[in-house]
Amino acid sequence: MKTLDLIIPCYNEAQVLPLLMQALQEVRAALNSYDCRLIFVDDGSSDATLDVLKGFAAADRAVRYLSFSRNFGKEAAMLAGLRAAKADYIGILDADLQHSPALLPEMLHALEEGYDVAAAKRTDRSGENKLVSRLSNAFYKLSNRVSDVQIDPGAQDFRVMRRCVADAILSLPEHRRFTKGIFAFVGFRTKWFPHENAARAAGETKWSLAKLVRYALDGILAFSDRLLLLPLFFGALCCGGSLIALLVQLILQLCTPVTVHAVHPLVAVAFLLTGLLLLSLGVLGVYLSRVLTEVRGRPQYIIRESNLS
Ligand code: UDP
Ligand code: MG
Repeated sequence: MKTLDLIIPCYNEAQVLPLLMQALQEVRAALNSYDCRLIFVDDGSSDATLDVLKGFAAADRAVRYLSFSRNFGKEAAMLAGLRAAKADYIGILDADLQHSPALLPEMLHALEEGYDVAAAKRTDRSGENKLVSRLSNAFYKLSNRVSDVQIDPGAQDFRVMRRCVADAILSLPEHRRFTKGIFAFVGFRTKWFPHENAARAAGETKWSLAKLVRYALDGILAFSDRLLLLPLFFGALCCGGSLIALLVQLILQLCTPVTVHAVHPLVAVAFLLTGLLLLSLGVLGVYLSRVLTEVRGRPQYIIRESNLS
């Protein structure tokens, strides 16, 4: 019998957890061909989340929980869940029923068919704050333009994956994790499931605008070093422009009756010096980008299968 671990990060979700548990019980009948565990990660909740989880665990031995000493964020909760999961198939879903458990049997079927990942992709952003939607779209556009991994704007954390995919995700040792980018980085054969944006069943979102902006910055900084190379671009522009200006001034002075005002070459030289400073910052940026690559310690490649023993 294949094993399945479902990871559920929870932060102040006491209100919604009974509803989630009910939905999961309904779907468990369809999952009876799997030895299923529910791994709840209480991310330092200040409400009764942990008590609710203890209640679930007392009634059902498939329920496991771990509880953080304080709120570390959803990324940390997912990481802890992935580290704790030992099953053949591993799933991640939100506690608030926005990730419908009813989709799980279909997703698992995709894994049985040979896919490595079955992931939900939202089809619309209805019910979401308009400003957040716009910012989110702008983030994905910018991120996909500057970064080395391409993230589908609709891709959600709601997914089920094979053990090897979870191992690949865990092989990225970085501290500030941006899991959406990591999912894209590790690759593997993914089947996408269109998924409507359901409203939260109870409780409220834990994301403030400030948290979202920090998350977006983490995303861009984790998978793109191009910002570090910007001074190189502006430095080259400044140097090139000022050298051309100096040349034009020299030609005008020597070959035409026009007299160049003394301040013009001075301005061009000031630009040239600024450009040289920017260029040296850019060179530092290139080295820093290399250092970042080494420090992140990501694997250079990920093997999907092999017949080498
Ligand atoms: N969550 C978490 N730690 C946090 C914030 C959120 O574990 O610091 C969990 C939360 O309990 C939920 C999931 O992450 O299960 C998604 O959070 P939320 O529903 O607030 O985000 P949204 O759906 O609004 O993006
Ligand atoms: Mg939610």
